[in-house]
Amino acid sequence: MARKDRHSVLVAGAGPAGLAAALFLRQRGVDVEVVDERWDARDDDFHVILHPDVVERLDDAGARLDLAHAAHPVDTVVVHDGTRRVAALRLHETAVRPGPAAVLPLRVVRDSLEEALRQRQVKVARHRRLARVDRVSDRVAVEVDVLDRDSAGYGVSHMEGVVVRTARHEPTHLIAADGFESVARQQLGIGWRAIGAPMATVAFEFASGWTPGPEAHVYVGDAVAALWPAPHRRLRLTFQLPASTPLMAAWLDARHTPDRADLAMMIDAHLPWVHLPIGVVSWSQVQWTQVGVAERACVGAAWLVGEAAHQLSPLASHSLNHGVRMAHDLAATIDEVARDQGAGERLAHQAARARAQTLRLAEVGELYQAEPDADPFVAANLRRIVPTLPVAGLELEALARSLRLSPKPM
Ligand SMILES: Cc1cc2nc3c(=O)[nH]c(=O)nc-3n(C[C@H](O)[C@H](O)[C@H](O)COP(=O)(O)OP(=O)(O)OC[C@H]3O[C@@H](n4cnc5c(N)ncnc54)[C@H](O)[C@@H]3O)c2cc1C
Repeated sequence: MARKDRHSVLVAGAGPAGLAAALFLRQRGVDVEVVDERWDARDDDFHVILHPDVVERLDDAGARLDLAHAAHPVDTVVVHDGTRRVAALRLHETAVRPGPAAVLPLRVVRDSLEEALRQRQVKVARHRRLARVDRVSDRVAVEVDVLDRDSAGYGVSHMEGVVVRTARHEPTHLIAADGFESVARQQLGIGWRAIGAPMATVAFEFASGWTPGPEAHVYVGDAVAALWPAPHRRLRLTFQLPASTPLMAAWLDARHTPDRADLAMMIDAHLPWVHLPIGVVSWSQVQWTQVGVAERACVGAAWLVGEAAHQLSPLASHSLNHGVRMAHDLAATIDEVARDQGAGERLAHQAARARAQTLRLAEVGELYQAEPDADPFVAANLRRIVPTLPVAGLELEALARSLRLSPKPM
């Protein structure tokens, strides 16, 4: 069917959510422009876990993730109660999509997306900052500040650049994928709802002689910890504890960068039965984490995608994966609207669906109940276990069922 008129989408933010949104739109033939305020992509040399359906979606869209070299596959998640292996959850048996999850550097995800866009003649315009967003009837009016480099002539990686001029756009849709501090969310007056208690997330990436094969491990005790195998005999170990824990509060306060001794101490304190050879720590961080969702997915033709719209459990990279899924669904809806297929209702339906799905993931631990024959440890800890599983939607339901957990009646 012929397009209604020239449809154009402006994507603000070249993180994984914005780049994926642009690629899914281009794949469908929609005109798209991408701007980002940074000169270079940020220093994001840590590993993420891509869920099986997200690997498949990115692959279908032409992002070459080089899984054979750059990624470590995960087909099983083992849940532990101290020294006891409570369950080994096989993603390929229970998931609707059969592939494994993949642990790989975020940089590789972003670079493959940017390369796939380049091949479709979409270039990321850097040093362009989304500055103002207004509704104009059924469109959106956007001002983008064009920034200059710093005085030394090097690209600056942050936003201190001088505004050289302001460009005005009136795209049919704005996709604001401008991260947690989203300018668009603030300008559109969209509220934020925090869910649950603030947590501290302490993550380490390190060399280890131990090769765990395609298994990730989840340990649930006084802390919840997730151990992922990363490529090149490296491991990623993430702990989550209440932010009010005295050591966590002190580390967060001091913006502490934990080292190898801290890693050994954390393993001793929280996983004393796990004996891991610890080599060089290549990356670590302590981060304050608060699960939360934007009160609306869109205002008129301006949409929030990725961390502009949600912050989800970091133990299974839910924020990143959900951002790609939402970008995928939104691209399909925008394409349908461009083909004049029930514009208003489709957009309203997409907005309601996006918000409902995000809320379900944010509250995922609350949505399940234990069957009478569930392991008592799983039944007692299901709110802490379910958010660590690297799947969502029907796949998550299937995996939860193999733990003898079922969705609570609505
Ligand atoms: C320090 C740190 C460590 C993390 N560790 C992990 C981890 O180990 N595992 C994991 O799964 N996830 C981790 N995350 C989260 C992960 O990075 C995010 O889930 C993911 O990057 C979110 O993608 P996004 O595209 O929504 O937003 P972002 O990646 O934040 O991208 C937003 C983009 O928008 C741009 N931008 C912002 N404002 C504007 C504006 N006004 N105009 C134009 N452009 C703008 C930014 O420059 C940026 O490129 C971490 C995040 C941080 C900050």
